[in-house]
Amino acid sequence: MKQILRNKNSLMMGIAVLFMLAGCGGGSALHIDRSSNVVVIDAGHGGQDSGAVNSGKKEKDAVLQITQKLYKEFKKQGYKIYLTRSNDRFLRLDQRTKIADRKNADVFISVHANAIADMKRFNVVEGVETYYLQKTRDARSQSIAARENASVLMGTDALSQNVILDSVLSGPKVIESHKLAIDVQNNMYGQLNKNYRSVKNGGVRPAPFYVLVGASRPSILVEVGYITNPKERKRLFTPDYQEQLAKGIVTGVGRYIDNRKKEVGF
Ligand SMILES: [Zn+2]
Repeated sequence: MKQILRNKNSLMMGIAVLFMLAGCGGGSALHIDRSSNVVVIDAGHGGQDSGAVNSGKKEKDAVLQITQKLYKEFKKQGYKIYLTRSNDRFLRLDQRTKIADRKNADVFISVHANAIADMKRFNVVEGVETYYLQKTRDARSQSIAARENASVLMGTDALSQNVILDSVLSGPKVIESHKLAIDVQNNMYGQLNKNYRSVKNGGVRPAPFYVLVGASRPSILVEVGYITNPKERKRLFTPDYQEQLAKGIVTGVGRYIDNRKKEVGF
């Protein structure tokens, strides 16, 4: 009789556990265990390299503040998160990307703010954009990459730029990086748009950014807005805007990781 009761009790317990598990499955992203997911975030520029500068505001400062918000948000969601720089210092290209391989990162994200040269268009050119590494004929993407590449190559040896690019433009990393870029861009824009209705969606674009070359894992570069646009320049230094940006990017990374798990049959 005792044996039967014990069996009955363990059966009831088993059913209760099953119900609990089923309940979690449909829950919010907060319930997903992210402790095995590693993310490396790179704040562009730093130290003697200010990046784009306009009206006394520097790209290197905006992106450092945004990556600090990203650090908090990824931590809150349970990720293992590493920053390439957490203060105002210059990093060589290899110092930015090697950490992603050393930490066996699932994704690498380099954060930048955009700029244009034509002053007459400062008020009209704005928006958030996400890039993945790919050669392109698009003149606009090429000129943005050229500006970012000029500073990222400071202090590196004279390696043949085409050789490095060609070596990474084949294989699944491009496809995975493209998927990551789509998830991050959609969620970043979606989150911002809830609170800042006028935000422009610049979409996902291919471009030959050297900072994405060295990391042998899904890697993207996010341009969080134009420092040359007065409205966006102000927002890029506003804590609430920075937090919304961070939330959207973190949700996008989560979406990408969950979809990838489904693809490989987890
Ligand atoms: Zn930059």
